[in-house]
Amino acid sequence: MATPSLHYPRSEREFRSWFSDDLACLDYLDWLRWGEARFCHRCGCVAQTRAIGGRFWRCNGCKTRISRTAGTIFQDTRTPLTVQFAAAWELCVDKGGISALALQRRLGLASYQTTWTMLHRYRAAMARSGQELLTGTVEVDETFLGGTRPGPRGRGALGKTMIGVAVETPPTGGFGRVRLRILADASEASLRALLLDTVERRSTVVTDGLKEYIAATAGLYTHQRHIISGSGSKAHELLPGVHRVASLLKRWTLGTLQGSIGEDHLEAYLAEFTSRFNRRHSRDRGLLFHRLVTLAATTPPLTYRALVQDNTPKPTPPIPPRGGALRPQTLEPLPLARPWRDVVSAP
Ligand SMILES: [Zn+2]
Repeated sequence: MATPSLHYPRSEREFRSWFSDDLACLDYLDWLRWGEARFCHRCGCVAQTRAIGGRFWRCNGCKTRISRTAGTIFQDTRTPLTVQFAAAWELCVDKGGISALALQRRLGLASYQTTWTMLHRYRAAMARSGQELLTGTVEVDETFLGGTRPGPRGRGALGKTMIGVAVETPPTGGFGRVRLRILADASEASLRALLLDTVERRSTVVTDGLKEYIAATAGLYTHQRHIISGSGSKAHELLPGVHRVASLLKRWTLGTLQGSIGEDHLEAYLAEFTSRFNRRHSRDRGLLFHRLVTLAATTPPLTYRALVQDNTPKPTPPIPPRGGALRPQTLEPLPLARPWRDVVSAP
């Protein structure tokens, strides 16, 4: 039996039956955000509101009209919630996630841009989890992403980018949580910033022989250097955690994402990878869906315009593979047309 605070679909079948229309999705969202006691953000009165027209609440006290998706990533989107929930489900059921192009095909959506934006909203939600600092013994190293695919810099293709990797290596074995950050370089200042941003002070930091780590950890961490040259060990034996994470990250970007990620949105993809890696032991995909929608319900709205806005002079909106309307089809059940009966039922 699920506890009252943890209702989530246990199977694809359950998912489909629970979220067959937008009102059902809205109700789930309401329940996630408010539980049983909805209160008005304007006057604070409790349980004094009633639904009007499905998508809004009206406060009986101050008469304010409140959008049921206000303050969530679903606010002001024209994409039906059934579609957005289905996207969240697809993101969670596959261990590798899903690319925008694959999702567009799977859900039969008209617009690549809409699909891409929807996935990035969820990535923004994922980025809100996993902000805590790593503790205990933490391996830290740098790795490179990109640079293998053709395409000039600044045109969306990912050039060679340095990524800082931090992985907990608990005494019980295996790997703990991971954190990933884009690094400008491997200078002492950059590495120190990486450490302060990802690892709790006084933890043990394990690195390779790069001398910049000595100063970067000084006075803050217990530093263990594993030096490769002359030790007779291979790189992946000295820092197995970062080696494992780096190879999974590369495989994911080249496999599931088909190397389609650009520099502009790399951080969002790192957030998705981190979120998925840190929940890799969760066998219940429905629980991942529940967590993702819960995060989405507390993540501020994010528009396509804001997503492609870029401070550097290289805005690169994704190029849709095919033209299409902005509005995707709804996933609400179609009326029972039974087209295969047409021949029989035609007069
Ligand atoms: Zn009110």
